[in-house]
Amino acid sequence: MSELYSLTVRDLADRMGRGECSSVEVVNSLLERIENLDGEIGAYLSVDKERALDEARASDRRRETGQGLSPLDGIPIGVKDIFNVAGEECRCGSRILEGYVAPYDATAVARLRAKGMILLGRLNMDEFAMGSSTENSAYGVTRNPWNRNLVPGGSSGGSAAAVSADMAFASLATDTGGSIRQPAAFCGCVGLKPTYGRVSRYGLTAYASSLDQAGVITKDVGDAALLLGVIAGHDPADATSLAAEVPDYLQCLRTDLKGVRIGYPREYFVEGVEKDVARSVQGAIEECRRLGAEVIEVSLPHTEYAVAAYYIIATAEASANLARFDGVRYGLRAGGRDPLEMYAETRAAGFGREVKRRIILGTYVLSSGYYDAYYLRAQKVRSLIRADFQEAFKVCDVILAPTAPGAAFAVGERTQDPLRMYLGDIFTVTANLAGICGISVPCGFTDDGRPVGLQILGPAMGEEKILRTAYAYEQATPWHTRRPPIAGKEGVE
Ligand code: GLN
Repeated sequence: MSELYSLTVRDLADRMGRGECSSVEVVNSLLERIENLDGEIGAYLSVDKERALDEARASDRRRETGQGLSPLDGIPIGVKDIFNVAGEECRCGSRILEGYVAPYDATAVARLRAKGMILLGRLNMDEFAMGSSTENSAYGVTRNPWNRNLVPGGSSGGSAAAVSADMAFASLATDTGGSIRQPAAFCGCVGLKPTYGRVSRYGLTAYASSLDQAGVITKDVGDAALLLGVIAGHDPADATSLAAEVPDYLQCLRTDLKGVRIGYPREYFVEGVEKDVARSVQGAIEECRRLGAEVIEVSLPHTEYAVAAYYIIATAEASANLARFDGVRYGLRAGGRDPLEMYAETRAAGFGREVKRRIILGTYVLSSGYYDAYYLRAQKVRSLIRADFQEAFKVCDVILAPTAPGAAFAVGERTQDPLRMYLGDIFTVTANLAGICGISVPCGFTDDGRPVGLQILGPAMGEEKILRTAYAYEQATPWHTRRPPIAGKEGVE
């Protein structure tokens, strides 16, 4: 029998449903795995062992008496440090939130809990989700399980690394400009960013409110479909959440792509994309054609302006959202002779370099005299990017592209070159600017063994389309079954 920690959420639900294993066994298997491996990876910021085991015992009792809350009852899940969980410190990877204990559960968290799922621990991230490598966390760098000299991607690097190394069955994460899809690609997992408004943002710490969206990182497409069905849906506490009904996403999965029209965006296959990445993604498109899809070339002409527009809009919104962290209500408070000095010192001590850079940038692009030249223009570009996708989706159902122009890079390689770091977001920020959905699935490896992600983009509320395409591709290829070669403390594996 394979080790419990290596299973998918659906496998576990089946086994637990048949009474073949208990929640306590499952939780223990994961705790041991974390104990053995996470010293080298650094995916978790905290693991609440006692609480997880208490909840597992309670879950087992429920199941024994036929009162299980759902097939997911007793299955543990990891949570990015950006989600509020009642009674837990929620630091968002930042010093400034040290000591801030969340008073309530984020809606996505509450919905998982309502099914009986167990929150195992909090996962590392770039401070306030600003970054593409998890090197901007105030609490240390997370390593890529495929090669510890490489970054796991970001900002949800902890969420992806934990799933990749079988230290979590699945994790909850957020994506403002690629933070679910890009780390999933770098770590060889599946990462789903739903349509803006599909999942409630209530209780997740805001970075850029018009772009932020919660989603999941999983071992395979089926688990992503299953968990999206749990967290999606209208929430009166988030006015931007959409009222549309939540379909059974597992029902839409097919093993062929007959009748599916795939858009091939020429602007996403240009110079600057790593050769091995281009090769793997092209191979994936061929595979989809073999599965019955029709491939149609489409154009997204404003792609080249996406990074610039994104970094203006995201930093503008961040500068406003982060104004609340001033030492008065949340977390850290530094000294000072008067309130003004206290605010300044708290922010100087609490925020890291990248966050400060972005607050300054965001304040600048919003300032009078510059507003029209930067912020207003970026909003116009955003409309053009949205229109690009609307045009493309008139002739295709989904769009296939690389998730990122390159595979995982070395720790330290880009920390001194923010612009280079930002440019790596070119293929992911577009979906957030347009408010559409996207998923990254493993589609191969570079010659030196780094995972490559295939991105499948769909129109707003097109989750069924992207999941169907992703599943058919996944089932026809071996990539999702590959696991990183990690030794752990015992040196075996
Ligand atoms: N890398 C992008 C940024 O730094 C996206 C991050 C995210 O999606 N949270 O803003």
